[in-house]
Amino acid sequence: MTDLFPALTAGSDRPALHFGDRGLTYGELFGAAGSLAVRIGGASRLALWATPTLETAVGVVAALLAGVPVVPLNPRTGERELAHILADSEPAAVLAAAGEQLPDGLDRLQRIDIPVTGDAGPPPAVPSPADPALIVYTSGTTGAPKGAVLPRRAIAASLDALEDAWEWTDADVLVHGLPLFHVHGLILGILGPLRRGGQVRHLGRFSVEGVIRELTDGGTMLFGVPTMYHRLAESLDEDRELAKALAGARLLVSGSAALPVHDQTRIRTATGRPVIERYGMTETLMNTSVRVDGEPRPGSVGVPLRGVELRLVEEDGTPVTTYDGATIGEIQVRGENLFTEYLNRPDATAAAFDGDWFRTGDMAVRDPDGYVRIVGRRATDLIKSGGYKIGAGEIENALLEHPGVREAAVTGEADADLGERVVAWIVPVDSQSPPTEGELAEHVAAQLAPHKRPRTVRFLDALPRNDMGKIMKRALHG
Ligand code: ATP
Ligand code: MG
Repeated sequence: MTDLFPALTAGSDRPALHFGDRGLTYGELFGAAGSLAVRIGGASRLALWATPTLETAVGVVAALLAGVPVVPLNPRTGERELAHILADSEPAAVLAAAGEQLPDGLDRLQRIDIPVTGDAGPPPAVPSPADPALIVYTSGTTGAPKGAVLPRRAIAASLDALEDAWEWTDADVLVHGLPLFHVHGLILGILGPLRRGGQVRHLGRFSVEGVIRELTDGGTMLFGVPTMYHRLAESLDEDRELAKALAGARLLVSGSAALPVHDQTRIRTATGRPVIERYGMTETLMNTSVRVDGEPRPGSVGVPLRGVELRLVEEDGTPVTTYDGATIGEIQVRGENLFTEYLNRPDATAAAFDGDWFRTGDMAVRDPDGYVRIVGRRATDLIKSGGYKIGAGEIENALLEHPGVREAAVTGEADADLGERVVAWIVPVDSQSPPTEGELAEHVAAQLAPHKRPRTVRFLDALPRNDMGKIMKRALHG
């Protein structure tokens, strides 16, 4: 029926979406979203109050059917960030589930309640592949969130590349516990299965029990962020049901931030299943993944997806031509999966491109067979110390292997002798008797190399994380 959702047809009784005890078949979704599409057709741009509900899924499908660009909003976002996003994106109205209480700032906008039943009318528009589909704000890890304008073709290209890498079919049932205001939960987690003709079972909120229940009850895939896999890894010791459920899944996928090798290994050992890592961004959708028919490699995000060209570029602008697993360069990508621009930010858009190559700001090395290993972000994770370039990621992985460490983040701090000094921020397993600074430095030096050892260790009760579980390194020094 449409460019994005060939499976969405009137009368189809294939199951599409389940949120708790509410669900829709493809035919019902077509009716509900199609009826809303007629109402909103012609709107310039709409905001979507993206709670983890059936309504959010219907709302986004309706906007895509209508060809109306939609801005998903994080319902847990702070007042200031919400004000920034509304002022920047100027939506004509807000789509929300009926009965949902909206915060100040949004209640000034016209509100359109999202129906979950209805009869589709005539399609209001025939959008073209270059038309903007979604404007998704970046996570704000490195600065104020920027609105990435995503054309329909980027969504189609990226989802089709994942179909190729993951052998994703209409028989797949996705177990979903992610929020719906970002690329991961919304585009991969909702639009992905709907494009394939498969099913989504959303947990509402992630829980270990929910994962067990849905994977045992027919789920074939699980998408998660590293903090979720950490919780699963922690629960595996005691929970045989969980090990059985995970072992039965066809595909366990992690993304949005680096998956600690320690958690990856624990899950594989207990279940026999690897967690496949993929790497993407709001601006580029998905860039790389370990393929289902490829070798899983802990610490690596796999190989470029079909249709994605990827290069590493050294600081002086030279592309890295030999893959030696050691030469660090910035990841740059090009392909149909890219966004078109940052909304209202021509300066930031221009700065983000080198010709048609998008500068991701992420630093990586490539193994001789092309597997990409992310070292960290240029802005926060690359530490220049004593003439060496050191990636925070491998030190964090080494620290997490220490039995006394629950969480770890590594940053660089100005140092008179070294230029920058490696600083480790540690959440200990036992706050009464944390490992000593010397013990942790020795542990890292023995595993990696002496110059990578932390010179300063700071203990915390928790690391600052955003709603996707990403570590906010900006907040560590502030
Ligand atoms: P902002 O751009 O506003 O600072 P952000 O970059 O965190 O925030 P997103 O677009 O949500 O916003 O996240 C993309 C970033 O997440 C990537 O650039 C990369 O640094 C990180 N990332 C995503 N997947 C992975 C992965 N598998 N391994 C390591 N890092 C990852
Ligand atoms: Mg970013």
